Amino acid sequence: MRYAIANWKMNLPPEGIDPYMRVVCGAQRDHATTVIAPPFPFLRDVAAQAKGVEVAAQNASDHDKGAFTGEVAPAMIRYCGVRYVILGHSERRQLYGEADALIARKIAVAMETGLTPVLCIGEDLRVRDAGQVAVHLSEQVHAVASAVGSGPIVVAYEPIWAIGTGRNASGALCAETAADIRQAIARFWSRSDVPLLYGGSVTPENVEDLVVNGAIDGFLVGGASLDSAKFLAIYNALGRT
Ligand code: PEP
Repeated sequence: MRYAIANWKMNLPPEGIDPYMRVVCGAQRDHATTVIAPPFPFLRDVAAQAKGVEVAAQNASDHDKGAFTGEVAPAMIRYCGVRYVILGHSERRQLYGEADALIARKIAVAMETGLTPVLCIGEDLRVRDAGQVAVHLSEQVHAVASAVGSGPIVVAYEPIWAIGTGRNASGALCAETAADIRQAIARFWSRSDVPLLYGGSVTPENVEDLVVNGAIDGFLVGGASLDSAKFLAIYNALGRT
């Protein structure tokens, strides 16, 4: 299964939602599943307009209910008509101190609730310069694989040095790292059915190299996903191989 996931982050004013959804829903074909990830308050709106596309939350609690002020339970996300949730995004890890153990718990609760998690993993430049990429990513995979079963899940390789920086991984580098990640998934999870996406400054200009040489099953797109035309150009590129 191929994916193009639009991570709006904390962007896109409410008045932009209707035209965006009209354009993106109207352009869907069979080659890949589109998933739109708006901020929490817009989940129901977006889900109501999501004809032929899926919807994701950008985060979820590791608890199913209770006294957790400000948190949102996976069941509440399901209630909004949503089937996916992005977890372990590097912005959550870096800005909000989310560590592997918490992310693994979030993934477990999300899966129990029937959400398909999009688990984000990736290295920073320090790790890459030290030649520790495979070890680092394999630890991130292991933390989750050891805590959850074998339900549907998507993994997104998102090198931190590429997110929002305008500096994307080349197709060749992406393919090399994707092989390491698939090996870790096979080793710790005994799975070969997990779609692997790439995320990090993907644009219509650099997508071709990643599609042809990147050995991945699609993209998690941040900045370029805010413009429906750019996002669709990335989605359409996935159908050309
Ligand atoms: C992201 O935040 O998941 C992301 C890939 O962002 P960008 O495309 O802007 O690098």
